[in-house]
Amino acid sequence: MSITPIIGQDTLQKFIFDNAAVRGEFIDISATWREVLSRHAYPAPVKKLLGEMVAAAALLSANLKFNGSIIMQIHGDGPVRLLVVECDADLHLRATAKIDPDAVIADDARLPTLLNAHGKGRFIITLDPADKMPGQQPYQGIVPLDGDDVGTVIENYMLRSEQLDTKLWLAADDNVSRGLLLQKLPYNGGKTAVETAPLTEDEALETWNRAVILGSTLKQEELLSTTIDVLMQRLFWEETIRVFEPLHPSFHCTCTREKVGNMLKMLGRAEVDSVLEEQGHVGVNCDFCGQHYDYDKVDCAQLFATDAPVEALIPASEAKH
Ligand SMILES: [Zn+2]
Repeated sequence: MSITPIIGQDTLQKFIFDNAAVRGEFIDISATWREVLSRHAYPAPVKKLLGEMVAAAALLSANLKFNGSIIMQIHGDGPVRLLVVECDADLHLRATAKIDPDAVIADDARLPTLLNAHGKGRFIITLDPADKMPGQQPYQGIVPLDGDDVGTVIENYMLRSEQLDTKLWLAADDNVSRGLLLQKLPYNGGKTAVETAPLTEDEALETWNRAVILGSTLKQEELLSTTIDVLMQRLFWEETIRVFEPLHPSFHCTCTREKVGNMLKMLGRAEVDSVLEEQGHVGVNCDFCGQHYDYDKVDCAQLFATDAPVEALIPASEAKH
């Protein structure tokens, strides 16, 4: 087992236990995460939750090998209204949070207080295929917020919806967002990648249990302060592990003038006209990247002159909710 760390580059490292019982991924992102944070001033507990979701979205995206975007959202009923992270198949990430403007958020506030104050918080995963067939809707799973932290909420979702035993360890602060994902592979009759005797089903289960115990020794502080290669050695030095070519997540916002225009069409002519009346133009800032889009009277008239039905123009991920 040897990994060459690439200094300064965000990295997702996939690996598999050579006895084919467990696969895993480490993620270490800093530049991408700082790009997200440079556009907003979030209180520390919100940064932590959003950063953990960023790590988790990239880990799941690489794990599901789905050709499209994963949009992970937590809709909250407390001081935090929404956390949203989007990650595409190339590990392009963007993320944002919406906070009640009147909220006072304590430094030690955690997920249940921030997002599930009245038990009405929801966790939503949307899989939006890159090449949609006409009329094809994205897949969307919505579950109650079951868990006291981001990792547990996702583990419970994966077990219920995908029937996959998945464990996540996540951490984020002002500089880094890191995580480890372990997943139990379906028993394949004991075939291994190396020249050893086939595993029995019990042995495969034992490997999974051992991997989870090793993962559980990982404390958040350690995850925040240690690079992937050191963590791999520290946790799994006794295991036979194969690592894959590292992948490199990066920040990328998919907003365009056309998409913002479609959103204005969704708002409706009356609403847009009233803003025009009041301000002489309509200005919209992208929640994810801060890009400013401006529409004057002529632009707005053109938006509403198009014959195409609004429904056909909206990206389906936004049309769903
Ligand atoms: Zn944007």
